[in-house]
Amino acid sequence: MSRPELIKDVVSSIAEYVPGKSIEEIAQKYGIAPSEIIKLGSNENVLGPSPMAVEALFSTASKVNIYPSADATELVEAISAYTGLPVENICASGPGMDGLLDNLMRLLIEPGDEVVIPTPTFSYYEIAARANGAVAVHVAPGDELEFDVEAIKDAISDRTKVIFLCSPNNPTGKLLAEDDVRKILGSTKGLVFVDEAYVEFADHDLSGLVAEYDNLIIGRTFSKAFGLAGLRIGYGLMPAWLKAQYMKIATPFNVSLPAVMAGVAALSDTEYLEKSISCTKEGRVFLAENIPFKVYDSQANFVLVDVSPMIAADVAGSLLEKGIIVRDCRSFKNAGDSLIRVTVGTPEQNKKVVEAFKEAKA
Ligand SMILES: *Cc1c(COP(=O)(O)O)cnc(C)c1O
Repeated sequence: MSRPELIKDVVSSIAEYVPGKSIEEIAQKYGIAPSEIIKLGSNENVLGPSPMAVEALFSTASKVNIYPSADATELVEAISAYTGLPVENICASGPGMDGLLDNLMRLLIEPGDEVVIPTPTFSYYEIAARANGAVAVHVAPGDELEFDVEAIKDAISDRTKVIFLCSPNNPTGKLLAEDDVRKILGSTKGLVFVDEAYVEFADHDLSGLVAEYDNLIIGRTFSKAFGLAGLRIGYGLMPAWLKAQYMKIATPFNVSLPAVMAGVAALSDTEYLEKSISCTKEGRVFLAENIPFKVYDSQANFVLVDVSPMIAADVAGSLLEKGIIVRDCRSFKNAGDSLIRVTVGTPEQNKKVVEAFKEAKA
């Protein structure tokens, strides 16, 4: 029995979030030992977590009977030191950056407000916005899958509340030029959310603009370069006026105590961060040079492969049979059916990935 009439109308037409495949799922389906599976479908950190973060987790385990600080003070201070921005501009969030998006949509969206979403991109923006009654206005990409800045400006209306930009973009790996972001910031009375989940792997970031604009929010995460996806920690950089409003409605204690302390430790482990960045940059070049299909230039910890004239599902399927999980991008709007996103692995994993692509093509 079910009672769909109890669910908000706006939810009925929302497509479910499609996560990357899990190790357990693939191990079972293909009869491969879980330890043999190479998981490169969700852009996690392939080096494992920072040892300092793991130590922090152990040392907080005996204190979890107590609530953490309501606003994750220790973590916000450490993020302030890392970004160079004052604490008035920083909100820590859980679960992950997704929690930040959720809180922001609850804070900002009134039914009928529009959100502009250039595609192809991360699907959770649309889910979070529409669940709160927003109308999603999608913008098609240019010929090389780049965000079309003029088309984005054309999509802005009087009802635009939020424009979602992702830089480097998931799944294309492309970085937006600062000038283009400035143009968009200046073209709207709404807010511009720039998702910088992968910014540690990129050539530049936009945190310097936060002091300059009163309508820019930057989203960040500990799930990628900092290797803490399982702890679900994110943060937002935003103008002080917006933080004050955000804190009124944010879910109380939304970053757990172990997450706060592991996040602080991960920020202090610069050796781990540098290793994760250099390993990614080297692997990115290796994959781009050796995968026998078109590979887009990437500023993130993944590369986007166009396997046409083959079909992504077929190629991804043939990699899966070898225990390699990659992301078929079919579920991304305006991504067609020939794109595969591959997380940059360890050197050994990258070699296996290249071999598997070669065999799939043969
Ligand atoms: C991974 C990812 C996130 C989610 O980050 P969490 O902090 O794990 O919720 C957000 N945006 C993009 C583009 C991502 O790829």
